[in-house]
Amino acid sequence: MTANLLEFDLEGLAVFCEGLGEKRFRATQLFRWIHQRGMSNFDDMSDLAKSLREKLKLHAHVAALPILTQQISKDGTIKWLFDVGSGDAVEAVFIPEDDRGTLCVSSQAGCAVGCRFCSTGHQGFSRNLSTAEILAQLWFAEHFLRRHLNQTDRVISNVVMMGMGEPLQNYTALVPALKAMLDDHGYGLSRRRVTVSTSGVLPMMTRLSADCPVALAVSLHAPTDALRDNLVPLNRKYPLDELLSECTRYLEKAPRDFITFEYCMLKGVNDQVTHAKQLVQLIRRHAALGLRCKFNLIPFNPFKESGLLRSDDATVQQFAAVLLDAGFVTTVRKTRGDDIDAACGQLAGDVKDRTGVAERIAQQRAVPIQWHAATSSFDTPHT
Ligand code: SAH
Ligand code: SF4
Repeated sequence: MTANLLEFDLEGLAVFCEGLGEKRFRATQLFRWIHQRGMSNFDDMSDLAKSLREKLKLHAHVAALPILTQQISKDGTIKWLFDVGSGDAVEAVFIPEDDRGTLCVSSQAGCAVGCRFCSTGHQGFSRNLSTAEILAQLWFAEHFLRRHLNQTDRVISNVVMMGMGEPLQNYTALVPALKAMLDDHGYGLSRRRVTVSTSGVLPMMTRLSADCPVALAVSLHAPTDALRDNLVPLNRKYPLDELLSECTRYLEKAPRDFITFEYCMLKGVNDQVTHAKQLVQLIRRHAALGLRCKFNLIPFNPFKESGLLRSDDATVQQFAAVLLDAGFVTTVRKTRGDDIDAACGQLAGDVKDRTGVAERIAQQRAVPIQWHAATSSFDTPHT
């Protein structure tokens, strides 16, 4: 089997070229052809020596992911469903805005974290994507969009690892993909415009800050451990105080001077003024130790199996007002691509449930979860 060259960052490609008996600088030329020009046919790479092209034809290939569907929303958002084999599929979403083009990229087929409000989580974990499978989403989208929009300049200016999967549970494949995104010979994206979103895999946050510091978004969703344990099961392993301390440490190396906290607004569960006040207290305690952050409130995108509802607009505004009054920059995420189900948490499509996690979650849900404002407690069985 020959190597898919999308598997490599520039350093990896240099090692591969050396293995073919070629000088390292050839890798730079090759990397530029692939990522900057979108080429996959070695014969078209005109400044490569014929001898190298022949070797490449024998030992390498550049393979995109097969596309199962492409949907274009009225608002310009485009969603692709890619086939990654064995019945698994992952999605990438392009979100055009006036001043930027953002690609939302998947890191895993399914996800093992199993957040209650996330349709990917409800499917369970199938497998990690390879570097090539992560990078192929960007490679395809960028070069497709240039053709589609008849543009020679770069179309995608921002990447967010907010598609399917927990990127920090696929660290080994993630980092070379990030490096290719940042590389001036690759996509040349600024570190500030590449965002890893995590449910809080602490040890990997530490490693990311050392290996490849990019912008960080942390999916918070709750102001107390009791509530977060239930919504984001990983919290039982890495509770809030430890998570926030790690966020503060991350800032020492981060390209931005704040962490974005994502907070999915779930009706009656985490969206009350009491929660907002608890959140202010929690964050203030850590702000005193150096934590800087912004809040991004995400309207929940309901799906049947979750048994949860979207908070109404007035509740979201009230919640935002408490954070704003406390001095925290707070935005409410606009929903995009509604007509094609491209919004966060709806990326799952019809991917198989291999682990029975949906059943497990359905059992949990049989007992309704409820927030008791009077006692500030979250009434639900602990699993
Ligand atoms: N696993 C990572 C990144 C992928 S999820 C993480 O959890 O951060 C990306 C974002 O989408 C997270 O903030 C997640 O909480 C949010 N999300 C998941 N399901 C959602 C839903 N149904 N509605 C709105 N946002 C959702
Ligand atoms: Fe996984 Fe993120 Fe979904 Fe949680 S929200 S299940 S971590 S993809």
